[in-house]
Amino acid sequence: MTDDKVVGIDLGTTNSLVAYMGTGPTLAHPDAPGKGVFIIPGEDGVNLVPSVVALDAENHVLVGNAARTALLTSPERAVYSVKRLMGRGVEDVQEELKLFPFQLAEDLAPGEVLRIKLGGRTYTPPEISAQILRQLKRNAERFFGGAVKQAVITVPAYFNDAQRQATKDAGRIAGLEVLRLVNEPTAASLAYGLDRKQNGTIAVYDFGGGTFDVSILKLKDGIFEVVATNGDTHLGGDDIDNLLIAVAVDDIRGDLGVDVRRYPDAVQRLRSAMIEAKIALSSSEAADVEVELPEGKLYQRRITREMLEQMIAPIVERTLGPCRRALSDAGLTAQQVDEVVLVGGSTRIPLVRREVEALFARKPHTELNPDEVVALGAAVQANILAGGSDETKDMLLLDVTPLSLGIEALGGVTAKIIHRNSTIPASATEHFTTGVEGQVSVAIHVLQGERELAKDCRSLARFDLKGIPPMPAGLPRIEVRFLIDANGILHVSAREQRSGKEAEIQVQPSYGLTDEQVENMILDSFDNAEADLAERQLIESRNEAETILTALGKGRRNAAWKMLGFSEQRKVDELEQRLRLAMSGGDHHSIRRSIDELNQATTRLAELMMDAAVGSALHGKKMDETEMEDGPSAPHPIGKAEFS
Ligand code: ADP
Ligand code: MG
Repeated sequence: MTDDKVVGIDLGTTNSLVAYMGTGPTLAHPDAPGKGVFIIPGEDGVNLVPSVVALDAENHVLVGNAARTALLTSPERAVYSVKRLMGRGVEDVQEELKLFPFQLAEDLAPGEVLRIKLGGRTYTPPEISAQILRQLKRNAERFFGGAVKQAVITVPAYFNDAQRQATKDAGRIAGLEVLRLVNEPTAASLAYGLDRKQNGTIAVYDFGGGTFDVSILKLKDGIFEVVATNGDTHLGGDDIDNLLIAVAVDDIRGDLGVDVRRYPDAVQRLRSAMIEAKIALSSSEAADVEVELPEGKLYQRRITREMLEQMIAPIVERTLGPCRRALSDAGLTAQQVDEVVLVGGSTRIPLVRREVEALFARKPHTELNPDEVVALGAAVQANILAGGSDETKDMLLLDVTPLSLGIEALGGVTAKIIHRNSTIPASATEHFTTGVEGQVSVAIHVLQGERELAKDCRSLARFDLKGIPPMPAGLPRIEVRFLIDANGILHVSAREQRSGKEAEIQVQPSYGLTDEQVENMILDSFDNAEADLAERQLIESRNEAETILTALGKGRRNAAWKMLGFSEQRKVDELEQRLRLAMSGGDHHSIRRSIDELNQATTRLAELMMDAAVGSALHGKKMDETEMEDGPSAPHPIGKAEFS
């Protein structure tokens, strides 16, 4: 085994975590729980890293809790829930744009990768996610006291090709080699070591911050297979928070006559207080809420668990339909499920646990922290790939493709090649032919989805197979092969068997980034943001200096120059030299300082020039004839106001 540590990462919509499976104490933390599988905490000792990226006033990148705090004060300089935008196009995210304050670049062309506005620049979703990954990488590196370069990252089981690809890209941009993408429910099952049971059926119920999903896994001879997935991408703990806030707002209006909605600060305080109460009510029977309101008023309320349960019952109920649909897709009854695993912070709510237990008629697994279990499982998988322990060495993990994959056949119909819920890695081959006499090329249009017509499916990629010798229609024999690799990424090849002509692509999904784009992003990443900024400031300050020097040149040739005293002229000369010296250096601060000094010293010159110009204008001359010999520019450039 090498020294290279492979970490497991849960890149969540709301929270992200990094975990490791290994033996023995670590360098940095000789007495830390360095055995088995564990979460690596951040510098603040906290395991969960909120999936929020923000810029502070100096354009430094903030990630996690610091970013979440910044989100409250300057939401326009923060991005959260970016996972919702990964690998998606403008037309895919209209719903998300209505629900979340994403600021997208306006000039997006159809098919182009999304870009999110942040602090005067735009970033693709993988670049934002990379920032979160980089923070987790740093946390791990601090923990181990050495570089961490490889990771296993989890993705929702329903993530399509483009979303998986975007997640891999994010890893690369963050400087991580992504050894494997693992489905979140598979990771959770691994964390519980359910593979050791050899055979059985597992339901994974994942209720997080903003999403709900349920997966049915089959375990055959110690091998996992995801057989069905379902869920609701707009249902999660946030909905519970919003409901509690809405109720409190009504309460406050009725009892205290205050319309809290008019005070964003108070709404934020109310939100924090309600979330705190919600969390407390998962372990206590009652929670006291106290929030200071404007107009000197105070909101005080005792919420019992019973009240909470009554309010949120409809939300919890909405998770049960997808569970039933997943079971029916898998051809199973609830009773046939052997193990139920709870994942996601919102499954800490006792009502959720009771409902799930009732539906499956089985006590769910809750021994591990539900918001950590996915990361722990990712670490187990990382350990397997690192060639880790004997215990895990021979394990192979299989997942399922959630949507059918195929190509567009003549007449715009969909020809499915790999059916949904197929175990991956998967490959399948179908044969096609030409529809026209003497046709020498065919266009392969790769589709994803369940619909019969190509136009109703998602277009993944197009490529041409050219150079087919002219033959009567129907004679060429075109073999199309689909392969979904272990990461869930699709490779498609087409071969005309009579001529041997072939063409292939690794599906570069629509809204995916090209390798070159990813490379550029690595170079041009946030890590460079500081250097970029310094560079820009240097250029800007040099430009400004050029302007003032040009203006000074003009000033010297103006009659006003001679009106300055000798010592004043000497002072200006000296400061000009100092500025030129600063410009040849790389420090924009010193350039700015010299500009300021020169501005200061030339204020009187500017005033004299101004007076002269105004004077001649009064005498009926045109401004630009008098004020400057060489050009119409106003005399302001050496004036202080211009540069202050
Ligand atoms: P995601 O997988 O979406 O990134 P998590 O699994 O970390 O998110 O879940 C986050 C959600 O869990 C938040 O809505 C948070 O308020 C909620 N949550 C965390 N702890 C508790 C608790 N003790 N009781 C109720 N909800 C909780
Ligand atoms: Mg999650």
